[in-house]
Amino acid sequence: MATIKCKECGKEMSDTLNNCSNCGYPLKSNIKNKQLIIGKNKQLIIGISFIVLGIISIIWGLIITYNGIPSISEIYGGDAYTGIQNAASITANNINELGNTLCVGLKGILIVMGGAIIIYGTSIILKKEGK
Ligand SMILES: [Zn+2]
Repeated sequence: MATIKCKECGKEMSDTLNNCSNCGYPLKSNIKNKQLIIGKNKQLIIGISFIVLGIISIIWGLIITYNGIPSISEIYGGDAYTGIQNAASITANNINELGNTLCVGLKGILIVMGGAIIIYGTSIILKKEGK
């Protein structure tokens, strides 16, 4: 435990105090250090939050699947030959394809976004560790 001299009254005291024990003058270096520690802890929490968010995003991206309208044979069997049925089936298949395309796109977006969020969160934590 070191001692420091109060800038206001000149009395010597422990450097662990926030204020001078004699005159109450704030010992700025100690207050600054405590604020710095609080700030760094906040950064760590924010960084971890970003990483968790990124992991959730990636997992979501990996598990997401498109369960669309069943294809032509599943709806009508092999003997669906009337015009209306065929038209409906083609539409259903087209929507199915569109859904799959969108799903693959969304997967990519979620995974890339998750990766970016994790990198951002890690950089916040690394910035905290660096002095
Ligand atoms: Zn003092």
